[in-house]
Amino acid sequence: MKYFSTRDKELKLSASEAILQGLSKDGGLFVPENFPKVTNKDIQMLTKKTYQEKASYILGLFLTDYTKEELDRVTSVYTKERFETDNIAPVYKLNSRTYFLELWHGPTCAFKDMALQALPHLLTYAAKKSGSGHEVVILTATSGDTGKAALEGFKDVEGTKIIVFYPEKGVSEIQKLQMVTQQGKNVGVCAVFGNFDDAQTGVKKIFTDLEYNKELNSKGYMLSSANSINFGRLAPQIVYYFSAYCDMLANEEISIGEQVNIVVPTGNFGNILAAYYAKLMGLPIARLICASNQNNVLTDFIQTGIYNKNRMFFTTASPSMDILISSNLERLLFNISGNDTSRTKLWMSELAENGKYQVPDITEKKIKELFWGGYCSDLDTALTIKDTFDAYNYVLDPHTAVGKNVYDQYLTETDDQTKTIIASTASPFKFAKFVSEAIGIDVKNKSEFEILQELSDVSSMRIPKPLQELNSLDIRFSCTKSKEELKSYVNEILS
Ligand SMILES: *Cc1c(COP(=O)(O)O)cnc(C)c1O
Repeated sequence: MKYFSTRDKELKLSASEAILQGLSKDGGLFVPENFPKVTNKDIQMLTKKTYQEKASYILGLFLTDYTKEELDRVTSVYTKERFETDNIAPVYKLNSRTYFLELWHGPTCAFKDMALQALPHLLTYAAKKSGSGHEVVILTATSGDTGKAALEGFKDVEGTKIIVFYPEKGVSEIQKLQMVTQQGKNVGVCAVFGNFDDAQTGVKKIFTDLEYNKELNSKGYMLSSANSINFGRLAPQIVYYFSAYCDMLANEEISIGEQVNIVVPTGNFGNILAAYYAKLMGLPIARLICASNQNNVLTDFIQTGIYNKNRMFFTTASPSMDILISSNLERLLFNISGNDTSRTKLWMSELAENGKYQVPDITEKKIKELFWGGYCSDLDTALTIKDTFDAYNYVLDPHTAVGKNVYDQYLTETDDQTKTIIASTASPFKFAKFVSEAIGIDVKNKSEFEILQELSDVSSMRIPKPLQELNSLDIRFSCTKSKEELKSYVNEILS
């Protein structure tokens, strides 16, 4: 299977080449030339397999230039030791039609671990296959969870370095502490003045600076991205939608072929795109429900066909969704427009120049058939956490609560009784202060760690070990740069 850019179909790459490059040189994103099909029979076969085996199977359909042995090594990261559960991504049944797919049992307590534990191994194999001998340098802009998950995935992985930039405004206290205390010999962490888009713009500029890239190559380095624009991030995310469906089949919650809805709290559009890709492959998915916080650019886009990022930016209680440019949407547009590179290029250049674009009616109609979009405020996020806790004794993190709230709106509007899986993207302990306040715990004058303890007492959930440990780690990184200065930090780390 070959991959090409959403902006140029001529240049075809293998999967490992696409993963190694991350972002195409023309600024486009790599997409597979077609989607492998999975039948109901295949799904029934997968139901009997472990998570690792399911992952090797699904990855094998896309990453055809990796050997079975290599993929088995890649998916061997999905262990009970790393994910604190045999299921890796367990499905929690809330009521007769609502299920949470818990994607936060990994080492950093958020769903990004699902892909970022596997990606370093996909990348190091890719580097070996390329034969260039270059050391892989991962550059990442993060709105919080990516950074830590990437750092954990790459730390001390031979032949790699990792540098993470996070927005000075817009990550939680715990998220920041997780990053600035990062261990490992091959890591760098630096804050960027501004918000996530500033950090992402700064990093994108380095990737598209051809001269600088040449200079790095001559020094034996090659830049790559661990952002959700890398296809090596997307592919492992497709796996858990199959795994959730299989688990529901095995528990006789659904019968084979029965359609389910998927709700995804969305930021960069990576997680929900993976669900869409699963649908294209044949997983019986009815509606994809795209949930946003106050930064509701995607809600407006789904409802009107107009993408417009010229608007107020809000720092919210669900910071990993505080995004005005959802990069992975480009892949959806490309697919929905029938692999039309010139259209995709046009929309993206309008976005870059004017901050907005409008898709034609036919595209808008297609998007509306597949997706339903909604958003909610921080206040409603808190109320959803409280209501869910009161009714079910189940604690949601703010991102997942946005998903639940938007799903409730969807039910009110459509009365659709289809069984529905809500992607649960972070442990509530990662956002303990907001969650505790929402369910009525008095947080005044309490330290982050006292709050963790109290939340644990009230909810009878165990504090995840990686969060508990933060208390005792030293701060290793304390720099802040403007988005124009990121290159100098890269040079600092590489020298
Ligand atoms: C990254 C993240 C999201 C958004 O996922 P995208 O793939 O960027 O849409 C949602 N919730 C949490 C907790 C995250 O870390």
